[in-house]
Amino acid sequence: MATEQSARSFRERFDTKCQELFSAKGLNSFYFSNEQYLEIINSVKSAKEAKSKTTLQYRRLKRFDLCSVSGVEKLIAPLSSSETTIKYYVTNDEMFDILHETHLAVGHGGKHRMEKECKKKYKNITQEVIKLYLRLCEPCQKKLKSAKKGIVVKPLVSTEMNSRCQVDLIDMQSNPDGDFKFIMVYQDHLTKFVQLRALTSKRAVEVAYKLLDIFCIFGAPSILQSDNGREFANHVIEELCSMWSGLKIVHGKPRHSQSQGSVERANQDVQNMLMTWMNDENCKRWSEGLKFVQ
Ligand SMILES: [Zn+2]
Repeated sequence: MATEQSARSFRERFDTKCQELFSAKGLNSFYFSNEQYLEIINSVKSAKEAKSKTTLQYRRLKRFDLCSVSGVEKLIAPLSSSETTIKYYVTNDEMFDILHETHLAVGHGGKHRMEKECKKKYKNITQEVIKLYLRLCEPCQKKLKSAKKGIVVKPLVSTEMNSRCQVDLIDMQSNPDGDFKFIMVYQDHLTKFVQLRALTSKRAVEVAYKLLDIFCIFGAPSILQSDNGREFANHVIEELCSMWSGLKIVHGKPRHSQSQGSVERANQDVQNMLMTWMNDENCKRWSEGLKFVQ
């Protein structure tokens, strides 16, 4: 399969770059080959057993401890009395799988997100390795290129839930799921709460119909805006008003400097998470995946 192939070459590219990094760092660094890892395990063991310990042995025990995971000895950071979660040292060979799994789990999250996740469980996944990984992740690189730089985002203050909401469509025509070809992303500006629906078309009737479902549960906004164009928004509002005669709703200008931040991020997050879900489940039915992303 194409995805497996690209995952393999991704690993190869990562390993090559890592080799350069690891060999430049030498011994006693944060990076361990399988051999070095076993050596340290053995030296920690003998340091623990030694009745009178050398300075070096004290230093070893300050940095390393052992723990057995289903019969296999693992190198961990010593737990202080207040700590409860074990942090593992990993070998160079294990790096890629851990980074890849973590990265997909956080929906192609960036540097800070990755660092935070890795730190929870691992002791020696460094910033350098994370950066190296991210530079090689193709979806992330594409995302960076398409990101608009230098937009100053001023938050728009909404004081009531539903006062201002935004509806956008993500075009999935190149990757349809049965009859479904669009994703409707509906966001309340105040709460940032996002609702997702799969659509078969971008016709205003269909969009309005799905919106009506949401309005009937959460209430209707007084202002509806869209980045899909004024005409689109106007048509949707017309349809809505014909379905719900008492509805009072106007079209708000999507003033870009203000609205774009969180909404664009939401649309991008949705796409990333959906892609991750399809990869993980090996399933192309994104209309199903939407429910989990939601
Ligand atoms: Zn990525």
